[in-house]
Amino acid sequence: MPSHRSSRRRISYSVQTRFGGALLAGALVASTPLQAYSQPVGIPSMGVASAAELSPGVERTLGDAIMEQGRRDPSYIADPDVLQYLTDMGQRLAAAATTSVDRINVFALRDPQINAFALPGGYIGINSGLVVTAESESELASVVAHEIGHVLQRHIARGMTQRAQSSHAMMATLAGALLAALSGSPDLVMGVAAFGQAAAVDRQLGFSRQAEQEADRLGLEMLTRAGYDPAGMARMFERLDNASRLNQGGGGNAYTSTHPLSVQRLADAQNRILRAERSTGASSDAFWYVRAKLRIEQARAGQALRAAEEVLRAETRQAEGVRRSAAWYGLAYSAWKKRDYAQAQEAVDQARGKGPGAPQLAGLEVAINLGRGEIDAAVQLGESAARRWPDSQGVALAYVDALQSAGRHDAAITQLQAYIDQWPEVPRLWQLLARSHEALGQRSGARRSMATYYELTGALPAAVEQLQQARAMSTDFYEQSELDVRIRQLKERLESDRQLLERFKN
Ligand SMILES: [Zn+2]
Repeated sequence: MPSHRSSRRRISYSVQTRFGGALLAGALVASTPLQAYSQPVGIPSMGVASAAELSPGVERTLGDAIMEQGRRDPSYIADPDVLQYLTDMGQRLAAAATTSVDRINVFALRDPQINAFALPGGYIGINSGLVVTAESESELASVVAHEIGHVLQRHIARGMTQRAQSSHAMMATLAGALLAALSGSPDLVMGVAAFGQAAAVDRQLGFSRQAEQEADRLGLEMLTRAGYDPAGMARMFERLDNASRLNQGGGGNAYTSTHPLSVQRLADAQNRILRAERSTGASSDAFWYVRAKLRIEQARAGQALRAAEEVLRAETRQAEGVRRSAAWYGLAYSAWKKRDYAQAQEAVDQARGKGPGAPQLAGLEVAINLGRGEIDAAVQLGESAARRWPDSQGVALAYVDALQSAGRHDAAITQLQAYIDQWPEVPRLWQLLARSHEALGQRSGARRSMATYYELTGALPAAVEQLQQARAMSTDFYEQSELDVRIRQLKERLESDRQLLERFKN
């Protein structure tokens, strides 16, 4: 069997097993090249699928439903430092774009392959391997910007609806799976798996060259305007090019198989980079801390973990400044995960050195104290860190964790309500709020908080169920009417989502 074909098959297999729904949609996007874009659309029997019909609202529904599964995948990294760092970067880049974009959420997957992908609804997935491989923040930002370029051009929406025949089969299967999700059926996972099989048939990996060039052009524009170093894009291209050469015949390079590099694409980008305005392009401290954490997260255990620790140990000797501190932080994080709290604390102290500290270090120190059972110390550390770094979600969550461990649920609720005002779209805060309500015996409040948590994570049937439970518990007339309104609104949303997906189904 030609190696070319088998390597493709291997890619599609790993794509399917790594991240159920989300990567499948990545595969779906990849399998619908945009050459067809200029052609007339619409196969009469489809009853679907003009790009116009896949409105941003529909895309968002699809993206939410895919992420609802994706967040439960073991490869999804639900770490607040990582999520906030990547999403802030994505939003900063998107804000620098000339076209406005509804919303951008960037998350990381535990996967050493260098890859990134855009999903419907402004979700962008970044493999940990990409962050660990990047030698500067601008390199990472160049890939995030490129993916946002695909979002801005609505390549995902168009790709899903343009390539009539094959994308129709996939769309129908996806719609079937999502419908199962909307009805709260446990068959969703199976539905998504079936979708994967449909997507695997006759797969052509990769966006068209034209789409890639558009995404590069927009990406570079955002990169420069947002103050990153445009040369980061050129360096990232070199790294990707090298990686794909090294991997030839051995499974291919994930990124270049879904975002094909061509001589023309490289030359175009390089020309634009030469003309772009330079910036100092210094990496933020957060980049180094998040990178060190992801190196450990990605390695998990065994030989890979020992190798990752060795890399970090070498950096503690060779690197300076924040890079050295971040290497110690990575080692501290690894020790904490192994519950070796003494060693973790020692490494945190080394990471801090005589420097001013960092929110990532403070958050980890709270967790170390909690691990040791030093609850009061954890609360105190959390409180002062929250005052010092009010913009850090990692610190906020560590502080709340400490308050809850101390049984101070009233204080936790006050704190969580302030954080929810600050970050209304972070589902985890609602989940923690529910926990404190529950602990205080405020059962209806707990259900209402969980309802919002489910709503934010796209699990609408579960949200309705929580609200109905809250309604049954409530003895207050005004609360009952308010809940009735919320339940009705959610049910209407569910129904319109359902109708919309039915149209794609046959
Ligand atoms: Zn691309």
